[in-house]
Amino acid sequence: MAGKTPLVAGNWKMNGLGASLGELRALKERLAQGPAPSAEIMVCPPATLLSRARDVLEGSGIRLGAQDCHPLGAGPHTGDIAAEMLADAGASAVIVGHSERRHDHGETDALVNAKARAAFRAGLAAIICVGETEHERLNGATLEVVGRQLEGSLPRESRPANAAIAYEPVWAIGTGLTPTPGDIAAAHGFIRDALGRLLGPGSRDLRILYGGSVKPGNAKELLSIPGVDGALVGGASLKAGDFYAIVSTYCRQPSG
Ligand code: PEP
Repeated sequence: MAGKTPLVAGNWKMNGLGASLGELRALKERLAQGPAPSAEIMVCPPATLLSRARDVLEGSGIRLGAQDCHPLGAGPHTGDIAAEMLADAGASAVIVGHSERRHDHGETDALVNAKARAAFRAGLAAIICVGETEHERLNGATLEVVGRQLEGSLPRESRPANAAIAYEPVWAIGTGLTPTPGDIAAAHGFIRDALGRLLGPGSRDLRILYGGSVKPGNAKELLSIPGVDGALVGGASLKAGDFYAIVSTYCRQPSG
């Protein structure tokens, strides 16, 4: 098949107790009824649910991701979780550099880069997040900010098989606001060019996801924007029905 298989990843953030695994069961059942989406599906629950989620998702084809990792493999770092531990718990990917971590924990591009390299070391794929704040956007600095974040956060060993970029305008996360399709296309085009410069032509198939208030009602429009290779979905990934509705954007419509 020519081109990239899109990826739709759900980021549960700091939401989810054992009872929430019912949503994963429901998603698995809904996907099993078909038709199969022509996209990879991933769910990133909190670390406390990873191993139970792995058991629930077994045989479903739904990938399991985590939300953060420490750069080191082990050691005296109370409360932190190594990428190797996430892999051991069943994750095959980890989100790094989400704006909530950059903001809440002061994560720098250099730290995000180290976390992505830790993911690779542990055999995980890294979903590396970039995106401008509202202030930066209003100052016309969107592409400058995204370019700087990419330059600093993206390990040069990133490949289509082990990395994806999530373009997530901070002001669009959890707000119900989204950039115009033209602005999203421009940002994704800019990121694609930057990937080519930083990683070379082999980066052509590295997926660039859009994230920020993707919902069942706007998924079709957002996911059909040129250069958008899938989505990172926050709030709307918590309910199986909403997440399935987004994922089903990639299901072939019955003809006739
Ligand atoms: C996110 O946090 O990655 C995200 C995109 O959130 P939401 O979909 O809720 O805007």
